[in-house]
Amino acid sequence: MSQTPFRYHRATSVADASSLLAASDARPLGGGTDLLVSLEEGLEHAGLLVDLRSIPEGDTITALPGGALRIGAATRIDTLANDARVNAHFPALAQACAAVGTPALRNMGTLGGNLCQRPRCWYLRRAVPCHKNGGDSCPARDGENQYLAILDGGPCFIVHPSDPAVALSALEAVIEVAGPAGSRRVHIADFYVLPSERLGRETVLADDEFIVAIELPAHSAGGRQLYRKLMQRDAWDFALVSIAAVRRTDGDVRLFMGGVAPRPYRVNSSVEEDIASGGLDEDSMSALAQRAMYDAEPLSKNSYKVALAESLLRDAMRELGA
Ligand SMILES: Cc1cc2nc3c(=O)[nH]c(=O)nc-3n(C[C@H](O)[C@H](O)[C@H](O)COP(=O)(O)OP(=O)(O)OC[C@H]3O[C@@H](n4cnc5c(N)ncnc54)[C@H](O)[C@@H]3O)c2cc1C
Repeated sequence: MSQTPFRYHRATSVADASSLLAASDARPLGGGTDLLVSLEEGLEHAGLLVDLRSIPEGDTITALPGGALRIGAATRIDTLANDARVNAHFPALAQACAAVGTPALRNMGTLGGNLCQRPRCWYLRRAVPCHKNGGDSCPARDGENQYLAILDGGPCFIVHPSDPAVALSALEAVIEVAGPAGSRRVHIADFYVLPSERLGRETVLADDEFIVAIELPAHSAGGRQLYRKLMQRDAWDFALVSIAAVRRTDGDVRLFMGGVAPRPYRVNSSVEEDIASGGLDEDSMSALAQRAMYDAEPLSKNSYKVALAESLLRDAMRELGA
């Protein structure tokens, strides 16, 4: 464990944060529940922490015309779990936020920090040389890989730990990003990257960019929505496997899974279409769940995740009224 001294600055505006984060040793700070531990573990390095919680209205939830919702990145996870508008119109997100860690973590953690939290692979967290920290192999591949990816892995097999990210993917959220070069909007489907595309980070954010807000589109409001999460213990735990399922008011179905891949994993769209068509009995639900996991390539100790994923898929189909 190493402890490096760092400076701390409370950003006064998005522009202030952008100019401070232009420094190569600066990192954005939310609730600090992951970043401060990551600094201690040597997973992150920073000479300057830029606190985004002090940006005026950075933690505001705003209803937009037409039924969309804009959530400031500094909004606490607990606020989202309990917000009346989120519960009424985007319950998959409220349920995913309620499933995060502990009350203390939900009260400290911000949505922006949650989406950008670093992976929990034991080897990475303990600075064992691996692909993500500059090494040339993956010790988990033939080691302790029970919590790692069964889909889309390689050369590194992390799973993204965020529950809200899975729900926001099913809700087709748009991420508002700012940085010294200006601002841009990134669809959440393009926000997370696979290790085969980028090893050092899990998102498309440049080192000097940060999330300002997350927008939930009106077309994802309402319908039937759910978030379900399977854990090793009943509380204070990351997902072994999770699912966000949305049947929109236009009838389209979106299914995303957590705990199975390095980023929220979208179930094959042909499976979504068959569920949207309806009229499924138990046998056809089982067949669809198996088809959804057809590409799974479990590692030596995590084939149990395939069975968990198929079970969650069947539950989701029943709850969506397939
Ligand atoms: C014991 C434990 C259990 C947990 N269980 C769960 C769980 O079940 N589900 C779950 O989803 N999470 C879980 N977490 C993660 C927890 O929710 C996160 O630590 C928290 O959400 C991170 O939020 P934060 O605001 O504290 O982020 P910080 O710690 O401040 O930041 C995390 C990372 O995001 C970056 N960052 C912060 N804000 C922004 C921004 N606006 N834009 C870009 N980058 C930013 C930081 O630089 C850092 O790299 C758990 C954590 C612990 C320690």
